[in-house]
Amino acid sequence: MKTTGECFCGEVTYQVNGLLRDARSCHCSRCRKAFSSQASAYALVEPQEFSWLSGDHLLTTYVGNHGFGLQFCKKCGSTLCGIYDGAIHGVTLGCINGDPKIALARHIYVGSKATWEVIPDGVLQYQKDAPEHA
Ligand SMILES: [Zn+2]
Ligand SMILES: [Zn+2]
Repeated sequence: MKTTGECFCGEVTYQVNGLLRDARSCHCSRCRKAFSSQASAYALVEPQEFSWLSGDHLLTTYVGNHGFGLQFCKKCGSTLCGIYDGAIHGVTLGCINGDPKIALARHIYVGSKATWEVIPDGVLQYQKDAPEHA
């Protein structure tokens, strides 16, 4: 299974030669800011299965508390991936092209979601963390 993704302007592109894992959405206040959205939408990748295809010179990195960082296209501002300890950790679902054949398996930190967000019934929700919050 091969998955590709790219930023809004299209200059930064990547490929994952393998399955995305553990797609999750975190509704905490930090993820709202980091993803400029109501929540994160993020899946893990195996570092050795991930490669940049183009535009990686346009990437800029912000490392927050806990050593977890995000990489953006400095031309258009899309957040493409997460890094941990200098290695790729996961990708943002919003930048994936086409159907990656995954679904958000769980919603975490819904206890601190934005007042204006309505989470649909029937999804797996955790008030705080589930194992391996990122
Ligand atoms: Zn871009
Ligand atoms: Zn979060």
